[in-house]
Amino acid sequence: MKKIRVSNKDARFAVNGQREFKGSHTFAEIDESGAYKVYSYGYHFPIYAFVNGKWYANKDKYSVSTSKHQSQLRPEGNLILVSTQEIKDLKNKKVKHLDQDAKPEKPAEPVKVKCDGCDEEVSEDDLQYCEWSGKRICNGCAEVDRERPSVLVKYEDGAKEVVKFGEYDAWTEDGDSAPDWFKDVYEARTYVRSDAWRGHYETKFKGLETIVDGWVTGYPDDSQKPEKKAIEFHEYLNKGGKIPVTLYWLFEPTSNVFSTASEILCRTEDKEELIAWLNSNGFTVEDLQSAFN
Ligand SMILES: [Zn+2]
Repeated sequence: MKKIRVSNKDARFAVNGQREFKGSHTFAEIDESGAYKVYSYGYHFPIYAFVNGKWYANKDKYSVSTSKHQSQLRPEGNLILVSTQEIKDLKNKKVKHLDQDAKPEKPAEPVKVKCDGCDEEVSEDDLQYCEWSGKRICNGCAEVDRERPSVLVKYEDGAKEVVKFGEYDAWTEDGDSAPDWFKDVYEARTYVRSDAWRGHYETKFKGLETIVDGWVTGYPDDSQKPEKKAIEFHEYLNKGGKIPVTLYWLFEPTSNVFSTASEILCRTEDKEELIAWLNSNGFTVEDLQSAFN
């Protein structure tokens, strides 16, 4: 069967119909026994299975994004709760041809493949495919990538869009693939070491210019927010406050968990208009800059 492409928001209908599909970091396949299984990130974590006429759900937790997939893709009807290992082992009972002389099939050796991140050899089933970079990485590298990503928030016409990105992957708050506007501005993300133990991530963007940059306390996911004028401006934007141009606010993790590198950016051609608007609306660049130091 041809796999259909769906967004995670729409994938539940594919699950209910036991259709094979490819979502963002999710997919569903029918195995050689005819068992239908839905996976989050890779074969290491099946979340739902339809086997012998019954739905099974994985009761284990893996990560925040996997829990999100579990609630987005939940099939309708009764679910039998099982562990990760149990759901992996589920097979459809098939009617077999009775062939007494047939040799029992040897289970195939798992194929070992190099992780594109750390070069370590892992079983092919344990690799996760990152749509953003096209790389296949091991669970360890994937965890590091997802744990403290950089965050770019785009404010436009009173609306807010969030993209989180690591070294290998970029995704929206819904766990879907990064939108085209992000692909258009993203250039490269690197880790800048200040000494053996300390450093921070630095992302380069195409066609964007920095208005204010520095450090803020906390992280956009935490309750803490940038200080003083920056808090006010952050709240103004998050409440849907209008600005005349598109504005980008970047948060990047550092080796110090209490400190986040932060930047406010806009398109080069919008810079003058934005600065003029900031100055006449009580958020001068000087005030914002001092809140970032
Ligand atoms: Zn790795």
